[in-house]
Amino acid sequence: MSDDELQDRTCRCCGRGYKYPVPKSSATRFHCERCVGLDAEVRALFEHFNKRVRRLTAEVEKLKRGGEAS
Ligand SMILES: [Zn+2]
Repeated sequence: MSDDELQDRTCRCCGRGYKYPVPKSSATRFHCERCVGLDAEVRALFEHFNKRVRRLTAEVEKLKRGGEAS
């Protein structure tokens, strides 16, 4: 896949799906347009929590399935 091809990406910060790269959009490879304007510290904090939420969500899904080995 070439670098300028439009991709479906998930923001590391808020978990929202976005297209990248979109002309005139300030979104980066890892952050959507909405999060790219945040302070680096705030973004880092969101990334931390987003990672945690994703992990907890996976855990809950596993428990819902009866906790069978994946
Ligand atoms: Zn975002």
